[in-house]
Amino acid sequence: MRYDTELATAIPLRRLEAAPENLLTLFGDHSLDAYRLGMQRCVSLVHHSLSRHQRPFSGVEPDELQPEFDAIDLDRPLPNVEAGLEEIQRLYLDHAVHFHNPSYVAHLNCPVTLPSILAEAIATPLNTAVETWDQSAGATLIEQKLIDWTTARIGLGDAADGVFTSGGTQSNLMALMIARDAACAELPGHAGNRHHGLPADYRRLRILTSEVSHFSVQKAASLLGLGYDAVIPVPCDDDKRMSLEALRARLEDCHRDALLPFAVVATAGTTDFGSIDPIPGIAELCRSRGIWLHVDAAYGGGLLLSRRYRHWLAGIEQADSVSVDYHKTFFQPVSCSACLVRDRRQLGHVTYHADYLNPRDQADQGTPDLVNKSLQTTRRFDALKLWLTLRTLGAATLGGYLDDVIALTRRTYALLQERDDIDVLTAPALSTLVFRYRPAGIRDDATIEAINHHVRHTLSRRGEGVVAGTRVDECFYLKFTLLNPQTQIEDMRRLIERIVAHGEAFVADHGHLETASNAAGYDSEVAPSVMATFADAGRT
Ligand SMILES: *Cc1c(COP(=O)(O)O)cnc(C)c1O
Repeated sequence: MRYDTELATAIPLRRLEAAPENLLTLFGDHSLDAYRLGMQRCVSLVHHSLSRHQRPFSGVEPDELQPEFDAIDLDRPLPNVEAGLEEIQRLYLDHAVHFHNPSYVAHLNCPVTLPSILAEAIATPLNTAVETWDQSAGATLIEQKLIDWTTARIGLGDAADGVFTSGGTQSNLMALMIARDAACAELPGHAGNRHHGLPADYRRLRILTSEVSHFSVQKAASLLGLGYDAVIPVPCDDDKRMSLEALRARLEDCHRDALLPFAVVATAGTTDFGSIDPIPGIAELCRSRGIWLHVDAAYGGGLLLSRRYRHWLAGIEQADSVSVDYHKTFFQPVSCSACLVRDRRQLGHVTYHADYLNPRDQADQGTPDLVNKSLQTTRRFDALKLWLTLRTLGAATLGGYLDDVIALTRRTYALLQERDDIDVLTAPALSTLVFRYRPAGIRDDATIEAINHHVRHTLSRRGEGVVAGTRVDECFYLKFTLLNPQTQIEDMRRLIERIVAHGEAFVADHGHLETASNAAGYDSEVAPSVMATFADAGRT
């Protein structure tokens, strides 16, 4: 099997029409006309490419694309921009994964709003960096107003503040760093991490989070000098929500073992299941023990704008800090995210004054230098796209998009449930569905896994659909992440039909599989041979 060759053939390009002034120069007053022509050319290129490629993916694999890259010498530039664009089309556009395609249902990637794209086109040539007022002026105030709007939507109160970040990973790191340092500042005899590093008994520090929370919590623990093992996984209920009973028990274990649980991370929208932890109960447990509550709403944050489902986030207003990814359920281009805190004084844990950038007296005079509350220094003006989206499309429209996606997920769930050859793991919460194809008579997990790997690979290879895979209790599952309000239930019906067709074909091609499974019920001999055959099938 090869990737879709129709898509991979070079598309004749309409070249730059008017003889452009030389585009091989810097952006500046002298090149404004060239800039305009160049931009128009790029817009045409994307338009041309996307109107031709109706599939989510070409199906290309790394070993097919790599040779093209091996042939390129970065020290020998092409003669002109036209040649550079042609090369980009061949290396990138022809094989790009299209998140706006209805058959792209793999990860938490969204189609983006048109106003957000326009805003990106404005912010990039200006190259505004938002770390200090003297580099950004109005851009700083635009970001600040969006931060204030978000904290008000959450209900964090008048003392709240925050900053844009590169994503939920950075937001979680920042929140947990602040939580760690706030907790350590309270330890007797410890003068504070910022000057003296971790306290002597830092090995007792613990973070609690559900067993299905995002891996960035573990990464943050490692970066914070605590290590992965400082994260205590809390079991979930059947709906993959953190169990309050289990949390209480783990906190008691910590107490018994003289550990210092300084933060609980509740997830509002887990990556695999979209499940939302019971925030009010978690908040109560945290408050009574003086533990920092961080809510990771990287995925579920968009519910802040939902007319129908805002109440799913009940309790989020009690958080000490919150992560929100605008580049997920607010339909913004990557990167666009924020870390919000209830008490703006806590942001002092990330402040460092440098005479050459953000001197202390400048802050004392009230100059709004965003670097004072950011882990990053030079930082993109990622707020402008959200700004133009809110000022034109409006928040209610974004909320409506998410409502539509949730409705589509429920209808897709019904389609999957109608079939007796598909197992769906849990009822949907936000917009994911975890399931596997399991034809009658086949029981053993390794065989089912081989079939589902084949289904996923074949869909992608043929450019018919991009679905994710995950593992739950050791078993492999397929996953739909629905984040495109333009997708229709008919699109999902077609995709499910393809899934079943590829599954059936695989079973038919490996006839011994069914009989062996039927005969033995569980036949451990079948699995390795199927896996071997599968490995061959993937290569042809
Ligand atoms: C996506 C996600 C993250 C990580 O966010 P990035 O923007 O990818 O860094 C963290 N937590 C949850 C629950 C997520 O879904």
